[in-house]
Amino acid sequence: MKTKIKFCKKCVMPNTRPGILFDENGVCEACNNYEKKEHTDWERRYKELEELCDKYRGCNGEGYDCAIAVSGGKDSTFQVYVMKELMGMNPLLISVDNWSWTETGKANKANISEAFGCDILTFSLNKKIGKKMLLKGLEKIGSPTWYVDAAIYAAPVNLCMKMGIELLVYGENVNYEYGGSQKEETYSAKGIFGNDVVKPIDWNEWLEDGITMKDLHSIKQPSIDEMSKAKLEPIYLSYFIKWDSHHNYEVAKRHGFRHMEHEWVRENTIENYNQIDSPGYLTNQWFKYPKFGHSSTTEMTSRYIRAGKMTREEAIKLVNERDHILDQRVLDDYCNFVGITVKEFWEIADKWYNKDLFEQDKFGVWTKKINIE
Ligand SMILES: [Zn+2]
Repeated sequence: MKTKIKFCKKCVMPNTRPGILFDENGVCEACNNYEKKEHTDWERRYKELEELCDKYRGCNGEGYDCAIAVSGGKDSTFQVYVMKELMGMNPLLISVDNWSWTETGKANKANISEAFGCDILTFSLNKKIGKKMLLKGLEKIGSPTWYVDAAIYAAPVNLCMKMGIELLVYGENVNYEYGGSQKEETYSAKGIFGNDVVKPIDWNEWLEDGITMKDLHSIKQPSIDEMSKAKLEPIYLSYFIKWDSHHNYEVAKRHGFRHMEHEWVRENTIENYNQIDSPGYLTNQWFKYPKFGHSSTTEMTSRYIRAGKMTREEAIKLVNERDHILDQRVLDDYCNFVGITVKEFWEIADKWYNKDLFEQDKFGVWTKKINIE
C-alpha cells in the first residue's frame, strides 16, 4: 500500500517511522510527548522512585537490591549513578555482550563498575549461532542485529527471574520518547517485548542450518504472567526522571564517561556520544534508511530540535548530507563477523529499499525520491 510521506512540522521525522502518529497540526507524537514533559510534576515522580526503591531495598538480604540493564553508554552511566548514588541501592549490572567493542566503549563499561562500585554480569551470546542468526535477521526481516536486540531485551529479564532479583531498571521507553506503537506513558516495562525494536518472528522459519530452540532459549521472552509469578517488576527510569540524552551525557561525563571523538568520527551521525560501544551493531541503526528513509541523523537532529539546540533548517541540511551514509567501519565490522562480503551485503540490502521512497539507477546506486519539506 502506498502511503503519502509526511514530515513532522517541528522535527524532521517522517511518518514512515513504525507506529508513529501525527496530530491534526502535522506534529509527531515524539514532539508532543516532549512538550508534555514541561507540565509533568518531576518532584512527585522522583518521590515515587524513592518510595519504590524503599520497597525493594533489602528485599534480597545482603544480596542485590535490583538489577540494571546496561551497555557502556552515557544513559547506562546515568542510570547507575541515579540508582546507586542517589537512591542508595546495591544494583547488579547486567550487560549483553556485543561481537566487537570500540576501545572507548570498553573503557566506559569498565568505568561504570569502578566509578560506582558495582558488579557487572556480562552475558555473551553463542557466537557460532550468532553469526547465523544475524544473517537470517538481515535476509528474512531486514533487521541485521535482531538476535542481539532480542538478547538485550530478554536476557536481563530471564537472568533476574532465575536469580530472584525483583526490580529491574531500564532507561527510556523508546516508543514513548521517540514515537512507536506503545503510546502510554507508564513506569512499568512489563510490556517491553511489545515495542517495535524486537519484531516477533515465526520461530519455525528460523530453525534451520542446525539451529534449535535450545540454542535460542536465552532470547525467548517471558510472558507478563511469568514475570508476575516471579514477582519481577521491570521499570523505565524515564518515567521517574525527565529523560534528556544530552543532560544524561553531561552527568555521565562528570563520572568518567568518555565520548568517541578521539577514537573514531562516524560518517553518518552528528554526535560522538550516543551508541558508541560497538561498530557493527550500528548496521541496525543505518538499516532503517532503506526501509523507512530515515536513520541516525534524522533521529538525533530531531532530538536536538525538540531540546531547542538546533533549528529545523539546520537539521534538514545535515539530514541531506549524512543520513544515507553507511559508515565504512560499521559495514566492515558487520560483514567480517557475519562472514559475507560487502558486495553480498549490498545485494541483500537492495531487496529492502522501499520503492515509494527510493529509486535505483542502472549502476545500482539508490537515490531518495522524496525530500524533506
Ligand atoms: Zn516531531
